[in-house]
Amino acid sequence: MTILCDNFGRKIEYLRLSVTDRCDFRCFYCIPKGYNDFVQPESWLTLDQIVCVVRIFSELGISKVRLTGGEPLVRKDLPEMIERFHALPEIEDLSLSTNASQLAKYAAVLKENGVGRINVSLDSLNPETFKQITQGDLQAVIDGLMEAKRIGLSPIKINMVVMKGLNDHEISDMVNFCLEHDFTLRFIETMPIGEGGVNATDYYVSLDDVRAELESKHDLEPTIMRGAGPATYLRVKGTNLRIGFITPMSQHFCETCNRVRLTVEGTLFLCLGQQTNVELRPLLQQGISDEELKDVLRKAIQLKPKQHDFQEEKGGIARVMSLTGG
Ligand code: SAM
Ligand code: SF4
Repeated sequence: MTILCDNFGRKIEYLRLSVTDRCDFRCFYCIPKGYNDFVQPESWLTLDQIVCVVRIFSELGISKVRLTGGEPLVRKDLPEMIERFHALPEIEDLSLSTNASQLAKYAAVLKENGVGRINVSLDSLNPETFKQITQGDLQAVIDGLMEAKRIGLSPIKINMVVMKGLNDHEISDMVNFCLEHDFTLRFIETMPIGEGGVNATDYYVSLDDVRAELESKHDLEPTIMRGAGPATYLRVKGTNLRIGFITPMSQHFCETCNRVRLTVEGTLFLCLGQQTNVELRPLLQQGISDEELKDVLRKAIQLKPKQHDFQEEKGGIARVMSLTGG
């Protein structure tokens, strides 16, 4: 088995693929209202180019691929893309991050094509608050979640970005919702990525506070979860509910980072919180051979920074979150 390792001894086995930077929602911390600087179609990688990069990565040791965005389900050829990834023998784990607005329509297709794990953004169970944060329709998301549950996509993880004064009073409601439906719940701290992310720092809540609040109400025990990534998990004793905490700001988890990110225009970002990147599209356009591309990717991995710079770079990361997909 091939293993891809960076300069700090971290095994890189996970690719997050932002299949589009566009989205049918406008979560203010991600794509602020009025933002219009999307990658133009003429700069997108073609489906064949995307599959080529994923195939070469898989031959180098990447076994997990997560489709993200933007909103992956706004991409018309997503079912075909997934089918082609599913056919790659080295890809063991194909997953999706979605806002679930169109999940009711696509859940069955995803399952048929080997997508197991899905993460769904859900910041509020109140339609008005949900609209205020995302500009989207809560009912469509709930319908999508219920369909995913009905057809047996598993596990379903709910991602909630906790924000002071906006949704931090809904922690208990979200715990009860996830208990009722057997979803995993993950809390996320706002990150200063893009203009939206920087604006969202005004609403920043340390998840230490959320954890303390939960501990005062529930009996929690440490637990582990397959594919946990950067989240640390607790279980509510006597239930199946697992609660994850993603704390890029208060406690970074860079020493165990196993991932890289590819944008729809073929830019490979080696760290979510740094600009270090390698542009693959020009090379693909020039018809780079498989062996040459392997070499480029191996060298790119050596550029992976030791850790992110969120705390130091107070101005945040200039690119919009939907370009790299979180
Ligand atoms: N559209 C999909 C979704 O919302 O799940 C996938 C892409 S979205 C960029 C991936 C994750 O990034 C979501 O859970 C979202 O809440 C999170 N996210 C976006 N901007 C963020 C920010 N500034 N700080 C923290 N999390 C953010
Ligand atoms: Fe769209 Fe997801 Fe960003 Fe919200 S977080 S604007 S749903 S890409």
